[in-house]
Amino acid sequence: SQIMSRGLPKQKPIEGVKQVIVVASGKGGVGKSTTAVNLALALAANDSSKAVGLLDVDVYGPSIPKMMNLKGNPELSQSNLMRPLLNYGIACMSMGFLVEETAPLVWRGLMVMSAIEKLLRQVDWGQLDYLVVDMPPGTGDVQLSVSQNIPISGAVIVSTPQDIALMDAHKGAEMFRKVHVPVLGLVQNMSVFQCPKCKHKTHIFGADGARRLARTLDLDILGDIPLHLNIREASDTGQPIVFSQPESDESGEIQEPADQE
Ligand code: ADP
Repeated sequence: SQIMSRGLPKQKPIEGVKQVIVVASGKGGVGKSTTAVNLALALAANDSSKAVGLLDVDVYGPSIPKMMNLKGNPELSQSNLMRPLLNYGIACMSMGFLVEETAPLVWRGLMVMSAIEKLLRQVDWGQLDYLVVDMPPGTGDVQLSVSQNIPISGAVIVSTPQDIALMDAHKGAEMFRKVHVPVLGLVQNMSVFQCPKCKHKTHIFGADGARRLARTLDLDILGDIPLHLNIREASDTGQPIVFSQPESDESGEIQEPADQE
């Protein structure tokens, strides 16, 4: 294990947090934040005894505040740590709570790193079973430093079936492997669109691309999510789909497309 850790900075756990699951993507706009939000809600819904938090380190484009219908400034605890904001039973922290919604996030380098440091180390999570981390897209400094600074139980990589998204997802998986973060699997998002009128199915971003990549990388497909109006509306209104339509599988509204492989 000494050889394994050579060259890697020392990892320090986040206080009170048992397991950290990062949600990552190569490209932006593929549904990473949507997946992170709904994963957090699903973990909490699955077992009500589990305490779940959601940390948005997508500092350039924080979307957790809107998706979780939260805004405001976190209060400080007695030990000067930021208290997460709470909705749907999930404790949330985001860069979006610390800067104005319309303020351009123009700072680079050190500014971003000190923001990351704040988000990783200066939050009073209490006791959490799971902390779901919404990473920025790509494989840059932020992703690397998050992966090296805290112990991560696993990474979930989100991609559409589109070639350009898959190439970047591949790079993401390689990065996690290099820093010894277990990749739990891939989520294929926006895999098919079914016309609500005529029921015709269109693979707008291609079919089964993430499944192919999963085979190449010897990873599991953890989920396959269609492109669906309700999902987009749910995130825009701040009522995540897992919260607002928990029975959707049974109603047949949102379900895994049947025509695969
Ligand atoms: P990322 O975090 O990868 O940038 P987001 O989760 O913010 O992506 O998603 C980008 C946009 O696409 C959002 O407006 C979101 O509501 C929408 N979206 C994501 N997944 C789906 C889906 N399966 N069906 C419909 N809209 C989706």
